[in-house]
Amino acid sequence: MHVTEHLDRADRTLFSFEIIPPPRGKTVRDIIEIVEQIAPVKPPFIDVTSHMAEAIYEELDDGSIKRRIRKKRPGTISICGIIQNRYGIETVPHLLCAGFTREETEDAIIELNYLGIENVLAIRGDQSNYNKVLRDGRTRNVYAQDLVEQVIDLREAKFLEDIAHSETIDFCVGVGGYPEKHVESPNMKTDLKYLKAKVDAGADYIVTQMFFDNTLFMDYVRKCREAGITVPIIPGLKPIESVRQLSSLPKHFHISMPEDLVDEIMESPQHVKEIGKSWTAKQLEGLVNSGTECIHFYVMNNARTTVDIIRELG
Ligand code: FAD
Repeated sequence: MHVTEHLDRADRTLFSFEIIPPPRGKTVRDIIEIVEQIAPVKPPFIDVTSHMAEAIYEELDDGSIKRRIRKKRPGTISICGIIQNRYGIETVPHLLCAGFTREETEDAIIELNYLGIENVLAIRGDQSNYNKVLRDGRTRNVYAQDLVEQVIDLREAKFLEDIAHSETIDFCVGVGGYPEKHVESPNMKTDLKYLKAKVDAGADYIVTQMFFDNTLFMDYVRKCREAGITVPIIPGLKPIESVRQLSSLPKHFHISMPEDLVDEIMESPQHVKEIGKSWTAKQLEGLVNSGTECIHFYVMNNARTTVDIIRELG
C-alpha cells in the first residue's frame, strides 16, 4: 500500500520509523532486533536508508597506499524485502542520485517491484570522496527532482530505453524537506522553489529533516502551503541520547538545538537520556495535539527510547 493511502486512511496519528542497514561485516540479525522493537507499535511503514560507496585508503606493509572502493552499509533492498515479507510492514527504501547511475536505479526499482515494495524516498545524497566514472553511455540523476521524474516515468511504463508492451511500475514517492533550509540553499525561498519543483515533478509527500523545536516545523508547513505545496508533510523527530549528539547532529545534519535543551543537558549530563526522551515526548505531544497525521522517527540502529516514548504517550 502507498504511504499516502496509509495517511488517508489514518484515524489517529501514525508513527513511522527510519532505520539504517548494518555495517559491512555485521549480520541481518541486528536489523531483525530493531524491527522486533518497533513492530508492537504497528508502524504504517519503515524507511531504510541507502549509502553510496566511498574510497578507503590503506597503507600496506611495503609503505604503498591501496585504494579500495566499498559501500560501508550495503543491503537496503534486501532489508526492505525481509521486513515487508516477514513482518508485513510496508517499507520505504531510500534511492539516491549520488553514487548510482540511472541504469542502476532502474534495476533497483525493478527489484523492489518484484519484492512487492510500492514506496521509495527519492534523495540526492551528499558527495563522497569517490566519484564513479560514467561509462558506456550511462547517465546520472543530479538532483532529487531528476530521480522523482525517473520514478514517475515508470508509472507510465517509460523505461530508460523503449521497451515494447512494457508494464507500469506504480511507486509512491516521497522526498526530503528542511525546516531549517537545506545547507546549500542561499535562503528558504530558494529551497522551497526547488522543493515545489520536486512535488510538481510528481512527489507524493515530504519527510522533514529532524528538528528540536516544533515552531520550526509549523512555520515550515505554513511557508510550504504559501508556496503552493499541498502534499502531506511528515515531521521527523529524534530523541537525543548522548551529550556528543549536541555537536554531532548540528554538524552532520545542519540543524540547530534549542538553548533550553542544551542548557538542561549541560547542567545534568548524566541524565542526558531522560532529558532527551522527555524533550521528544513533549514535541510528540505537541504534534499529535495539533493534528499531525504521521510522525517519523529517526531511530537508525536503536528504537528502544522511541518505542518507550510512544508507549508512555498511550
Ligand atoms: P535535493 O532536493 O536535490 O536538493 C539539494 C540542494 O540542491 C538543495 O539546496 C536544493 O535547494 C538544491 N536544488 C534542488 N534542485 C535544484 C535544481 N534543479 N537546481 C539547482 N539547485 C537545486 N542521505 C543519504 O546519503 N542516504 C539516505 O538514505 C538519506 N536519507 C534522507 C532522508 C531524509 C528524510 C532527508 C531529509 C535527508 C536524507 N539524506 C540521506 C540526506 C540527503 O542526502 C542530503 O540532505 C542531501 O544534501 C540533499 O538531499 P535532497 O534529496 O534533499 O536534495
